[in-house]
Amino acid sequence: MIRRSFCEAGWRMAFAATILLTPQWSATVRADPAKSVFKEQWIAGTKGPEPEMQVQRYDADTFVIRQSVQTNPEAPFLYLLFGTDRALLEDTGAGGLKIRPTIDKIIAEWLAQKGRTSISLVVAHSHSHGDHIAGDGEFAGAPNVTVVGHAPGEVAAFFNIKNWPTDIASFDLGGRVLNIIPTPGHEAAAIMIYDPKTHWLLSGDSLYAGRLYVKLEAFHSFRDSIDRAAAFTKPLKISWLMGTHIEMTTTPRVDYPIHAASHPKEHVLELPYSRLTDLQNSLDHMGDMPKLDVHADFIFYPLP
Ligand SMILES: [Zn+2]
Repeated sequence: MIRRSFCEAGWRMAFAATILLTPQWSATVRADPAKSVFKEQWIAGTKGPEPEMQVQRYDADTFVIRQSVQTNPEAPFLYLLFGTDRALLEDTGAGGLKIRPTIDKIIAEWLAQKGRTSISLVVAHSHSHGDHIAGDGEFAGAPNVTVVGHAPGEVAAFFNIKNWPTDIASFDLGGRVLNIIPTPGHEAAAIMIYDPKTHWLLSGDSLYAGRLYVKLEAFHSFRDSIDRAAAFTKPLKISWLMGTHIEMTTTPRVDYPIHAASHPKEHVLELPYSRLTDLQNSLDHMGDMPKLDVHADFIFYPLP
């Protein structure tokens, strides 16, 4: 999420980075496996000082990374997906820390396990708000790394999307062909990514367990994007919607205050696929009059 009225740069300054060496896949609290697809609970600022980033390995080639709320109150999630030819990093965090050492370490360990010495990296974005692109500069110009631009035209050009936003593109990581679905609305360059390996739909800030901010003038664009994503994914077996923040508590309909310093009793990251249809139906019923719509595990939140 992001509300433009808050100053991201200010947050970054306030939380000047102190690099804690992250115990990479060894956070301490086990998640309830009946309630989450992840082995560990996500760091949520509730247990004193915590690592700046937490990495969970979902499968051999899929990593999910959370930036600590103690480094930036947005506490976004990043995704790192490996194919045989290249890896894709979705998002570079909200600032207030260096993320590349953590990403480089994951890549180095993955390469070592595969008996390889290199793989190219594409740095793409769920969308271009500041809490998802702040670490781009750490990757710009690095060997074997391509950083996708922030404007819709740059995203379309990179993924070879001829008609933005109506066309849906394929992007092959090598034995792992992602689909790139343009979803402008929350932000003009927003995309969702379908991954056939995990059957996840990376849904960015367009749909996650939190406040889905959409400016009034972008409402129709957002509604079309949700329709597009729903139509494309309907025949696919989506396991989970994987967003880029958590702002809901485990109590239905109750979210945290904006920019809360910690997230006690936090909702899990993943949402069931049915929430996409729930959102679609909700938007359809609004007609041309977007309104605040509080669901059990997400909130549609129009902004003037
Ligand atoms: Zn965000």
